[in-house]
Amino acid sequence: METAEAGGKSITGVLLPRCHLCGEVPENGIRGGIRIRKTFICEKCESHIVSLQAGGSKYQMVLEQLKKIW
Ligand SMILES: [Zn+2]
Repeated sequence: METAEAGGKSITGVLLPRCHLCGEVPENGIRGGIRIRKTFICEKCESHIVSLQAGGSKYQMVLEQLKKIW
């Protein structure tokens, strides 16, 4: 699936958010994740964060990244 990456001008009124954590653009666009202020996080990373809440150093790392956003 080609996106705006190639040209950047093929998008007409379509918002293609890029995940702040993994850098991916979800297929569902803005519906494929959540927006936090000006930052977008895809649902994969969102569920990843939720699953990390069991604890661990990785969760702390993600938290640190999110703190920069929030
Ligand atoms: Zn992501």
